[in-house]
Amino acid sequence: MPTARRPLVAGNWKMNGLKSSADEIDRLVTAAGGLKRLDLMVCPPATLVADFAERARASKLLIGGQDCHPEPAGAFTGDIAAEMLADAGASAVIVGHSERRTYHGEDDATVRRKALAAWRARLTAIVCVGETEADREAGRTLDVVGRQLAGSLPDGATAANLVVAYEPVWAIGTGRTPTPADVIEVHGFIRNRLIGRFGPAGEGMRVLYGGSVKPGNARELLTLANVDGALVGGASLKADEFLGIAAAYA
Ligand code: PEP
Repeated sequence: MPTARRPLVAGNWKMNGLKSSADEIDRLVTAAGGLKRLDLMVCPPATLVADFAERARASKLLIGGQDCHPEPAGAFTGDIAAEMLADAGASAVIVGHSERRTYHGEDDATVRRKALAAWRARLTAIVCVGETEADREAGRTLDVVGRQLAGSLPDGATAANLVVAYEPVWAIGTGRTPTPADVIEVHGFIRNRLIGRFGPAGEGMRVLYGGSVKPGNARELLTLANVDGALVGGASLKADEFLGIAAAYA
């Protein structure tokens, strides 16, 4: 690692997990104590945040939410406020995941409001950006990522309250990943944008890679320049597989 940024490996369970999944969390709680060089986080569905946070309370395992509404309370049926996640024991929340952008029509301005909501509730905002396959084929990757960063990140970001996750949409759940050179290019670009906008604080902000990270490719992807951890979907559902990814930093 070129800097002192502490890696974060975060698991996004998406719409998976029942109360019976607690065994996986209990295993991560136990294992987290032995992970000296990284932070480990699980973002379960909202129904499980309170239970998992309670199980993880005296441990190093962090619990996050997967989304939040911009407002703190109100008539927004089915939505979850950042304050509710914090109240349930979360310390972070993912905002702007490509599945939210695609299936729920969230634009950069909405993502920005959600990041502000996270900070209002004293949660770290994990803001996702990433290009579609069409964008990449058209040579628009850096344009798209640059626009998403400019529109989704609020002023006032610090290394403590912001994590950026670069997730090429075409790599999510597909088993395909960018080349190391492509990852280095985009992460370097994101780092420069963060420093350009937030000054020296941008040097300390963690930039995660996400998209088909598995134990077998974790070391190659996660030790690249300006890659400060991973946002993991499918491979985070089983503790063994997730810990196999965290082992990239062993
Ligand atoms: C994700 O959706 O954040 C993700 C990275 O998914 P997967 O690891 O399954 O590609």
